[in-house]
Amino acid sequence: MEEKLWDAAVVGAGPAGMTAALYCARAGFSTLMLEKLSPGGQMATTNEIENYPGFPGVTDGFELAERMRAQAESFGVQTENAEVLALRTGGEEKVLVTKKSEIRARSVILAPGAAPRELGLPNEAALRGKGVSYCATCDGAFYRKKTVAVIGGGDTAAADAVFLSGLCEKVYLVHRRDKLRASGGYTKKLQKENVETVWDSVVEEILENEKGRVAGVLLRNVKTGETRALAVSGVFIAVGNIPATDFAKGAVPLDEAGYFTAGEDTETGVPGVFAAGDCRRKPLRQIVTAAADGAVAAYAAERYLRGE
Ligand code: NAP
Repeated sequence: MEEKLWDAAVVGAGPAGMTAALYCARAGFSTLMLEKLSPGGQMATTNEIENYPGFPGVTDGFELAERMRAQAESFGVQTENAEVLALRTGGEEKVLVTKKSEIRARSVILAPGAAPRELGLPNEAALRGKGVSYCATCDGAFYRKKTVAVIGGGDTAAADAVFLSGLCEKVYLVHRRDKLRASGGYTKKLQKENVETVWDSVVEEILENEKGRVAGVLLRNVKTGETRALAVSGVFIAVGNIPATDFAKGAVPLDEAGYFTAGEDTETGVPGVFAAGDCRRKPLRQIVTAAADGAVAAYAAERYLRGE
C-alpha cells in the first residue's frame, strides 16, 4: 500500500517546528511532525526562560515544550518519533527518508534546530557523561556543592554559569576573549561571589582522574601563553551550536556554516520547502523568533499548497 501523501511534513519539534505544525493543521492541512528525540529542542533543556512574552516570571522550557506540543496536537497534528536521514525534492511530491519509512508530503517545513558544538579535544567524547556535559540544566544537579567550569562567552554559557552558581560551590566561566558575547541581562547576573570569570583562556586539555572521570581542565592564556590547571569535577561546554542540516545537503541550499540560506520569508529556494528557526541564517536565535519563523513558514506553505 502506498504511504499517505501529507499536505505538510515538519522536520523538528522545537518551537519553530511546533508552531509551524500548529498553524498548518489549524489551516486545515494534514500535518505530520517528525522529531528524533522528545519535543522542545534546545528549549526543553533550558531551565529558566524569562523572555518569552506572556509567561512572566520564570518558565521551565520543558513545560513550555509540552504545552506547545499539546496545543499543536489539539489542532490535529500527528507527531512521529523518527530521525530524518535524507530529503528528496525536485517534484510536486517531496520525500523524507527515515530509518523505518519514506514519508511523502506536498510541502516540507525544515525546523531541525541545532546541536551543541564540541571543543574537539581528544578525550572529550569519552568523558561525556563522566564530567563533560553540554547541558547544564540536564546535568547540573549531579554537581551540587562541587566546583565546575563553564566554557564559552555567549548567552548559553552565561545562563549556564548563573544556573550552576545556584547549585555548585564554585563556577569558573572560561572565555577565550576579554569580553563576553552574552547580553547585558546575563552578564549582570554573573556578579556573584561563587562565579569567577577566567578571561583570554582556552581549554588545552581535559584532565582525568584514575576512575576515568573529569578531574580538571588545563587552560592556556591566549595572550601570554601561560598554562594553568583548574581542579573541577564538571566541564560544561557552551561554545555555540551546529545546525542539524546534514540530511538536507545537496537538496536545499546551505551557507558555509551549514545554515539554510532561507531569509525571513523562510523560502529555501526549493519550491514547497521552507526553513524555520535556528537552522536558518538569522541575527537572533530565541524561542520567540523560532516561533515567529514557524508561523511565517506555515503561511508560506499554505500559499504554496493553494497554488498562490
Ligand atoms: P554563541 O552566541 O554562538 O556563543 C558561543 C560562545 O562560545 C562565544 O562566546 C564564542 O566565543 C565561544 N566559542 C565558540 N567556539 C569556541 C571554541 N572552539 N573554544 C572556545 N570558545 C568558543 O552561542 P550560544 O551562547 O549557544 O547562543 C546561541 C544563540 O542562542 C544566540 O543567538 C543566543 O543569543 C541564543 N540564546 C538565548 C538565550 C536567551 O536569551 N534566553 C539563552 C541561550 C542562548 P567568541 O565570543 O569569542 O566568538
